[in-house]
Amino acid sequence: MTFVTMGPMLKRAQAAGYGIAAFNMIDYNSARSIVDGAVELQAPIIVQVSVKTIRHWGFKPIATWVRMMADDVDIPVALHLDHCTDEDVIKRCIDAGWTSVMFDGSSLPFAENRARSEAIYRLTESAGVGLEAEIGAIGGVEDDKFVAEDSAILADYDECLEFVKNMPNLAVFAPAIGTAHGVYKGQPKIAYDLLERISGAVGIPIALHGGTGLSQEQFDRCISGGCAKVNISTMHKLRFIDGFLDVRQAKPKLEEPLPFIVGQYDAMKRDVCDMITAFGSRGKAAQAAGMVG
Ligand SMILES: [Zn+2]
Repeated sequence: MTFVTMGPMLKRAQAAGYGIAAFNMIDYNSARSIVDGAVELQAPIIVQVSVKTIRHWGFKPIATWVRMMADDVDIPVALHLDHCTDEDVIKRCIDAGWTSVMFDGSSLPFAENRARSEAIYRLTESAGVGLEAEIGAIGGVEDDKFVAEDSAILADYDECLEFVKNMPNLAVFAPAIGTAHGVYKGQPKIAYDLLERISGAVGIPIALHGGTGLSQEQFDRCISGGCAKVNISTMHKLRFIDGFLDVRQAKPKLEEPLPFIVGQYDAMKRDVCDMITAFGSRGKAAQAAGMVG
């Protein structure tokens, strides 16, 4: 089924009331666990990448790995650039074969965020690539940007409407609704009413950032409120590290590296399957791809 742009599949997911998992890949093994987990459950999947991960591996290796995996499977796979403030990185991702990108202008004043998001929207539209844009401030750490949870700013309803007005084909919209990146220290205060009002008014699938650590009930309410893309990063990072270390703990004398990689892969893939199941996208590959109603 190869690569897809995420916009159409997110629209189908939103209409059918399930969420599509967007995992932040770390390396080849991690990307494979994400795609293979989705294949096992016949679910659509978004493999997303942070700017610093791209800076580590390079544009071409990542695009090549994920495209190669997508070409071999029968589920829709999107390759997405997560939180990016640098237009040059966005352009290079488009050139390297990413199927969607995020421009994060949320730390800019509203008018500037809007103007720059619109400029990138025109760029992505002409390239046939999906765009995610953000408004408000999502708490926690993303790459090297830190927003204290208590100073995270909820998106403003009227600004949301104005923000998306000239971007009707936005693939996914990320208004801050009270979730945060990283591990939650207390209970997140999710503004479900705001989410529902924004989602009902803009007619664009909504992205849920800061998915790690939310309960099934919180996922359910966000997804039924319009969140079609559910981001999981921190959980995957922790499993990447623990999956490796657990093998060392179980077999301290092991000198063969492959069992470490397999243990890490299995741990990450289990999480991918758990999250797909939690978001209701199990068995939805064909529906998300528009092959069945
Ligand atoms: Zn995020």
